[in-house]
Amino acid sequence: MKPLSVLHDTFGRPLLNLRISVTQQCNYNCTYCHREGEAEQSNNVEMTVEEIVRIAKVAVDLGVTRVKLTGGEPLMRKDLCQIVSGIADIAGLKDLSLTTNGSMLSDIAKELHTAGLNRINISLATLNSEIYHKLTSGTLDKALAGIEAAVKAGFNPVKLNMVILKGINEQDSSDMIAYAEKTRVILQLIELDPVNINDTYYKQYHHSLDEQKEMLRQKALNIKQRHFMHNRLIYHLPNTTTIEVVHPIENTDFCMHCTRLRITSNGKLKPCLMQNNQLTDILTPIRQGADNEKLKQLFKQANQQREPYNKNTNT
Ligand code: SAM
Repeated sequence: MKPLSVLHDTFGRPLLNLRISVTQQCNYNCTYCHREGEAEQSNNVEMTVEEIVRIAKVAVDLGVTRVKLTGGEPLMRKDLCQIVSGIADIAGLKDLSLTTNGSMLSDIAKELHTAGLNRINISLATLNSEIYHKLTSGTLDKALAGIEAAVKAGFNPVKLNMVILKGINEQDSSDMIAYAEKTRVILQLIELDPVNINDTYYKQYHHSLDEQKEMLRQKALNIKQRHFMHNRLIYHLPNTTTIEVVHPIENTDFCMHCTRLRITSNGKLKPCLMQNNQLTDILTPIRQGADNEKLKQLFKQANQQREPYNKNTNT
């Protein structure tokens, strides 16, 4: 039985996940980056620790159980541990996770774990240091050190986010599976989203993941679905490695099982990565003294604006 307080949108999808962008600042410049779908420059307007924690608390009061912190690069925020511990303390929250490029993680992984962070996703498109640098402007060794530190700090699971790019790394998933096995992490193969990148780039590098799915289907002991996470496929391989496939493009099943609302780094509720026409400003009302009832209303309004980007028009 679902708790009565869980909000559902007009398509019957529950609101269970909140993805909070804590900054637009980043130390990397990834060629493929969708910047969490943020169209505008935040002009350095960022939510404070207290504002982020308050928004998360309102969301949890409305039935959200899982919060993900993202950016920009969340580790650019010097107060990230305070954000984590404030959110981790919210009664009713079941899962708090972070997505990072990992480059600054090795020094702070343990502290984040102690502060109450449950899980970490680390972006890693390749194990080739030259290609890594070309794609991200960063240094592979630092990301690898971050991954090791995350595993050592006790995060479980640590996941690697590998965006697949045609002609760049689409042949590399087997190497990455071997690395995932060695480091005892989960690998996520992610289809390139056409957000905040130009058409030419998308046409050149988008890869459908069909080959990877077929390879995994042949290797897997079993294949499952993450029901409240876009019905993503999870492949359990005989060597105990787990691979998830994130395949959003033209995928009605993915969108029909989306349970997420986003918050931009400058405090706007955003119903979908792919769309920017339905933003609800929650930060300005907070700064003007809105009470929690008003903030709940804004969440409900944003939730009503959630709709599957790809929907089955035959039903
Ligand atoms: N800086 C952090 C990082 O690198 O993980 C957090 C922000 S990044 C935008 C969040 C996630 O989005 C990463 O896992 C990244 O691989 C993924 N991502 C970025 N651009 C993407 C795109 N065009 N298509 C699919 N995934 C993308």
